[in-house]
Amino acid sequence: MDPISPLEQALHAARALVLSDLAAGEVAAADVVSMVEDSVVQRRWWVEQWPDGVAYVAGLVAQDVQDALLEKYGRWPLCPVCGSGDPHALDVEPELGPDPHWVCHKAGVKVAAVGGLGSATGGAPSS
Ligand SMILES: [Zn+2]
Repeated sequence: MDPISPLEQALHAARALVLSDLAAGEVAAADVVSMVEDSVVQRRWWVEQWPDGVAYVAGLVAQDVQDALLEKYGRWPLCPVCGSGDPHALDVEPELGPDPHWVCHKAGVKVAAVGGLGSATGGAPSS
């Protein structure tokens, strides 16, 4: 067996983080999991072309899944911070960078790290 490459480690971590956020929003259905797998396959190819992008895959997979969900189900993840007004989705920031976070542009706050939505939404948000 080959040792696990940094690329595979990063992809594995990205998959786990996004699945964790999906589970926090209770949308981890089978076809949603396959959206994550599709994204991981595409991003593996992408990082093979551009190895320096390995630190960015978690944010990119999160955005891929967000786009795929928007087409099929609607906005995800819904902002847990803003208690009133139109429901809106969080955005990943940076779009292309390491250490991605979910942010609400309306409130101008970082809500959670990608992978950390469960702890951000588990307690009642103080509004
Ligand atoms: Zn918001």
